[in-house]
Amino acid sequence: MSVICRRCLLADMEGEELYRSVQERIALLDESARADGEVCKARLEICKGCDDLTNGMCALCGCFVELRAAKRDTRCPKGRWPKS
Ligand code: SF4
Repeated sequence: MSVICRRCLLADMEGEELYRSVQERIALLDESARADGEVCKARLEICKGCDDLTNGMCALCGCFVELRAAKRDTRCPKGRWPKS
């Protein structure tokens, strides 16, 4: 990945293979481990406005935020996500 994209999700970037790989990981999550779709969407909207998001990855936890946000029991390391 040669371009640095601040405040971009993988969904907004070039690099289809990485995006697909993350989406496949999300699809493999057990239903019981999965966050509600609206909760996930709200989390990602917050990430998109966060200075710690670069190339779809949170600089604080090192996770791809689309995967982290899709999991029920995860938290934003700075406590920015709404309580779920
Ligand atoms: S998880 Fe939290 S700190 Fe990381 S990019 Fe999202 S809002 Fe920012």
